[in-house]
Amino acid sequence: MRIDVVTIFPQYLDALRISLIGRATGAGLIDLHVHDLREWTNDRHRTVDDTPYGGGPGMVMSPEPWGAALDDVRARADAAPLLVIPTPSGTRFTQSTAAAWSGVPRLVFACGRYEGIDSRVAQHYSNAPDWQGVAEVSIGDYVLAGGEAAVLVIVEALGRLIPGVLGNQESAADDSFAPGAMADLVEGPVFTKPVNWRGLEVPEVLLSGHHGQIATWRAAEAERRTVQMRPDLLPDPPEA
Ligand code: SAM
Repeated sequence: MRIDVVTIFPQYLDALRISLIGRATGAGLIDLHVHDLREWTNDRHRTVDDTPYGGGPGMVMSPEPWGAALDDVRARADAAPLLVIPTPSGTRFTQSTAAAWSGVPRLVFACGRYEGIDSRVAQHYSNAPDWQGVAEVSIGDYVLAGGEAAVLVIVEALGRLIPGVLGNQESAADDSFAPGAMADLVEGPVFTKPVNWRGLEVPEVLLSGHHGQIATWRAAEAERRTVQMRPDLLPDPPEA
């Protein structure tokens, strides 16, 4: 998979060079390219923003550098990319989005700052023939200062689902929200050695070696924890 990230803070994305995703890029499973949006500005101050039409506080990212950057980045590889624009006003990015995007050959991320990117950029690339459309996604109901942290979240979530990235691919199937049996559940509690820590015991069934009983216990614990922590995931969530 090829991933291009366009940002005014390229160093922010250095975190993708370490740990699991760093190893995946090192192994060639992810071909990562980070670009500075200011390379596509023409003025002395390398300006990427302007005042909002209609007034109001804050600045809006101008469409010109974005258009120039995205056209240029598009031309650097053959595959038509999906353009991902993180924004709090987008549809929710979930584990099933991560699973779907882990199979996409090419993603281009546009990191907004200030009050966001001029809306015509999303509009234009939604209909551009050599793109796979635009996904405007939110990572949660809160407002970050920029799209870079959202891109770190999204790339880590989808990257670990690319075949070969996780040491044991099966572990992703048991994760909270994993498409399939866990789709509407969070994972139950997990334990490791020692059996007794500060007077707290590991549940007996996990020591039994009985795979069927362990699977049943884990399924029940996933349900119990979902009811406790995330009742909004239940088919009939209780009124808030
Ligand atoms: N004025 C915008 C609004 O209220 O929707 C918020 C702009 S925010 C300060 C600047 C940038 O941070 C956004 O353009 C987006 O790239 C990113 N961002 C902030 N919160 C986000 C979230 N929850 N999910 C994804 N991206 C987010």
